[in-house]
Amino acid sequence: MAKFINLDTLKFQLFNVIGIADLLATDHFKDHDEEGLNMFLQSIMDFSEQELYPYFQEMDENPAYFDGKIIQTHPQVAKIFTLGAELGIISAPIEFKDGGLQIPFSVHTVGAAIMDAANNSLPGYAGLTLGSVELIIAFASEAIKAKYVEKMITGVYSGTMCLTEPQAGSSLSDITTTAYPQADGTYKIKGQKIFISGGDQQHVENVIHLLLARIEGAPAGTKGISLFTVPKMDINGNSNDVITAGEFKKMGQKGYCTTHLIFGENDHCIAELVGEPNSGLKYMFKMMNAARIGVGRGAASIALAAYEASLKYANERTQGRKISDTGKKDLTQGQTKIINHPDIRRLLLSQKAIAEGSMSLILQAAYYYDKLIVSTTKEDKDKYNLLLELLTPMAKTYPSEKGITSVSNGIQVLGGYGFCSEYILQQYFRDIRISALYEGTTGIQSIDLLGRKMTMNDGMAPQLLAQEISKSLIEARKIESFQLYADMLGKRLKDIVDIMQHLSQFSMAGKFNSYLADASLFMEYFSTVCVAWQWLKMGLEAYHLKNSGNSNFTDDFLDSKIHTMKYFFHYELAATSGLKDIIMDPTMLTLTTKNEVII
Ligand SMILES: Cc1cc2nc3c(=O)[nH]c(=O)nc-3n(C[C@H](O)[C@H](O)[C@H](O)COP(=O)(O)OP(=O)(O)OC[C@H]3O[C@@H](n4cnc5c(N)ncnc54)[C@H](O)[C@@H]3O)c2cc1C
Repeated sequence: MAKFINLDTLKFQLFNVIGIADLLATDHFKDHDEEGLNMFLQSIMDFSEQELYPYFQEMDENPAYFDGKIIQTHPQVAKIFTLGAELGIISAPIEFKDGGLQIPFSVHTVGAAIMDAANNSLPGYAGLTLGSVELIIAFASEAIKAKYVEKMITGVYSGTMCLTEPQAGSSLSDITTTAYPQADGTYKIKGQKIFISGGDQQHVENVIHLLLARIEGAPAGTKGISLFTVPKMDINGNSNDVITAGEFKKMGQKGYCTTHLIFGENDHCIAELVGEPNSGLKYMFKMMNAARIGVGRGAASIALAAYEASLKYANERTQGRKISDTGKKDLTQGQTKIINHPDIRRLLLSQKAIAEGSMSLILQAAYYYDKLIVSTTKEDKDKYNLLLELLTPMAKTYPSEKGITSVSNGIQVLGGYGFCSEYILQQYFRDIRISALYEGTTGIQSIDLLGRKMTMNDGMAPQLLAQEISKSLIEARKIESFQLYADMLGKRLKDIVDIMQHLSQFSMAGKFNSYLADASLFMEYFSTVCVAWQWLKMGLEAYHLKNSGNSNFTDDFLDSKIHTMKYFFHYELAATSGLKDIIMDPTMLTLTTKNEVII
């Protein structure tokens, strides 16, 4: 079987670079140790090798489809809800008291990454069920919990998130699906939702939709949105008037169904309110950090899998001859492996630097998520909440956007074969494209980063992050061969301050359109700086492990981390230098462009 992930790299990142020993020493996670967590990850690896990866291409060739009544998904989807649920892939981060395994979110993230890399059409069914059951646990009544929690975490029922409507995608304030109060305290729902992942399928007894709707007469905008549980089937196994209208035909992730649902066409779609009326979006946002980290994780995992596939090809394919320093080809020699061409090594290093850097950023965010859970003081809670809030839009966006470049470079490694269906790279390229779109597009994440996260609590979040990065800079400056990289990163941090000072003239003058005009470029710049920080941490850890003479990793493995760190700084970070100039350019061309000239 082809290799789809390097488990050693994930373990190096989790246990060495991010380092979760402090989490395992807390009361909350004291029942877990590194050995047990390694066994958990190995069991997910075995499951992925046996049940996920072998069906990856097959699910692309046989997409989910609507048979006129129900969405028919690949038979392997059933395994997620049986074998997968038994392994704990739905219940891993849920607390013991609610029937879960209470595993750190960062460890769960590594497990999910293994599955994403094996077959990214499948883990979403479990991921959305987990997300929706977490909403129920956090905010629903005991009666609702009793009805759904156990059945969802054991895979008997699945869950979905129903937010999007035809006129309300990025702008959820425009949701019109309506909930009509009934005498018995329930609600009748009327409306339609589109693009619902896992929206319908034949492998579970019931699908529980976590749906956003407006209670009749509720205030306009986001303040009038409430959250409901809407089961596909009622308690007696009869239809709850949730009608499947169709399945979207997509360019990628074809095994993961994306469904159009109509609620209450026959006026008997019964729902129960979760928590307080008009608080639905607030509840949903509490779950967004995990969901957004999840999308970034999926993208990073696809990029990692694509790297493994193109690396294998580059080590097998022979083409052309090496050019000597004299510039002459020696035609008496046989053809060389393409990995010997500098341009192929550049493509591979770029793939590796982006994919592994992305995964490290994801795990950093997941670690802050865990730190927030185990924090006991208000000061710590505030600190980790702010760090998580700041990092989340970047952890969603960098892997999604740069992952596309990374996989595209993988296709380039294969030459013409990369464009052909018999090679897997083209599928990764189609699959990864969704990551920059769902769970908030790049444009929306960038506005969130610059418009909200940079300025919240008087700019406290970037200050806290700068303090965290400074710790790595201090460590790096102690080692001669790392000083250059500490200086490069330190300069970029200062650039972020300069950019914010420049932009603040707009926000202080109330010119928010100007302030946010290049938010996506700011996202690219800042998130690249954060990934450079991750590479500095990986390089430092590899350096220390190698010098300790007491490492489980080979010297080649550790050298590869230090070398890729250097690649990231000299190529990826260096390539963003023009962004600062563009963001601070007074021309502001996108604001002055008339629609008429875009012809
Ligand atoms: C495969 C797939 C699965 C999905 N799964 C789910 C799911 O499970 N549940 C669910 O509820 N939804 C789901 N979605 C919906 C997804 O979250 C939306 O497609 C996404 O939020 C964007 O909304 P939209 O498609 O309406 O695009 P629009 O909101 O129309 O955006 C179009 C473009 O305009 C930009 N734009 C919009 N508003 C602004 C603004 N204010 N400022 C700057 N730029 C802006 C966007 O960035 C984008 O580039 C899924 C979508 C797909 C394709």
